[in-house]
Amino acid sequence: MGKALIIGCGGVASVAIHKCCQNSEVFEEICIASRTKSKCDALKEKLQGTTSTKISTAQVDADKVEELVALIEKFRPDVVMNLALPYQDLTIMDACLATRTDYLDTANYEPEDTAKFEYKWQWAYRDRFREAGITAVLGCGFDPGVTGVFSAYALKHEFDEIHYIDILDCNGGDHGYPFATNFNPEINIREVSANGSYWEDGHWVETKPMEIKREYDFAGVGKKDMYLLHHEELESLALNIPGIKRIRFFMTFGQSYLTHLKCLEDVGMTSIKPILYEGREIVPLQFLKAVLPDPASLGPRTVGKTNIGCIFQGVKDGKEKTYYLYNICDHQECYREVGSQAISYTTGVPAMIGAMLMLQGKWKKPGVFNVEEFDPDPFMDALNRWGLPWQEDRHPVLVD
Ligand code: NDP
Repeated sequence: MGKALIIGCGGVASVAIHKCCQNSEVFEEICIASRTKSKCDALKEKLQGTTSTKISTAQVDADKVEELVALIEKFRPDVVMNLALPYQDLTIMDACLATRTDYLDTANYEPEDTAKFEYKWQWAYRDRFREAGITAVLGCGFDPGVTGVFSAYALKHEFDEIHYIDILDCNGGDHGYPFATNFNPEINIREVSANGSYWEDGHWVETKPMEIKREYDFAGVGKKDMYLLHHEELESLALNIPGIKRIRFFMTFGQSYLTHLKCLEDVGMTSIKPILYEGREIVPLQFLKAVLPDPASLGPRTVGKTNIGCIFQGVKDGKEKTYYLYNICDHQECYREVGSQAISYTTGVPAMIGAMLMLQGKWKKPGVFNVEEFDPDPFMDALNRWGLPWQEDRHPVLVD
């Protein structure tokens, strides 16, 4: 059916690439392009005897628009899947505009020198994408991603109006290290060490990092402490879910993770301000990333499950109702299937599904969109088919 250019070859990209190769009918041809070409070649080597998807590889510095344009013009993909880092979102969108190619990513742009992610940078491309007649799908991982699809599905099938959404992201996995992050350490630490916030009655309420803590009993995992964080999809859902009164996002963290993070913060290791070390500028957080375990290496040692989903409260036919949609994913099952842990899996599978729907023409309209602005039904069916089956609870315990 089509050709996808996949940029990045880390934890998330590796899963998406495995999934594209399981879905050769749609992904007839893929090109894996990243900064370190040897990683792309190794993955190609592993997969090419097992799939009828034709795989090629390329070296690209995705910070450079002209390199990206040259690659896109050479490979001529139908869609570019940006699975590198958020810092590359705008250069890749620029290259897609220059070549009139559809675009998808899993994380919104943030400038490297300011730890503040928001959609304004990418929403500023709306007119240009519309005028060029191409589609950009933003934030198509699990959260953001599936959480937006769940919200669109709940609104379409379960509610006349949704008033409250609590997004709960639980990782009950244990990798055996005292401290490691499940996806890119730099991005992860920037996210969790920032102030928290939630959307209520038309404005943002800001909290100190980890200030709001709750305990929740997660299906398939058990009781965990979770903390309120700011998260990307709060911003788009606040706009796209009419009548919404409050949206919050909670993520679970173990005590060891928090104690280590606090210590690293206290000694300045999570800072993104460059310092001079032996005559050379280094960013402490980037140095920390270099000494922490590579998230892609956690696969074989992580056991346990994730449970990520959304609790909705609202009205249907004049009556108040609650509804919980979630997915449980087992780290070891993911590892057996694609050689990765569940955090990469739960992000890489939705990225493949989003790109598939774009190639099939089901998610295609000119402009820049968040996932909840498309029809959720084909995505929900695909989640069940491609490894992230969802479950419903019509009487969930609510978060106070
Ligand atoms: P990794 O660090 O494992 O992989 C990033 C990849 O991008 C690496 O292959 C890296 O290359 C490549 N890369 C970095 N800079 C460039 C560049 N300038 N040019 C070309 N390639 C580059 O990250 P993850 O796979 O864990 O995360 C990928 C993305 O997914 C991130 O944006 C993250 O925020 C997002 N994410 C989204 C989630 C969601 O649910 N929506 C959840 C988890 C992650 P190299 O190998 O040379 O370093």
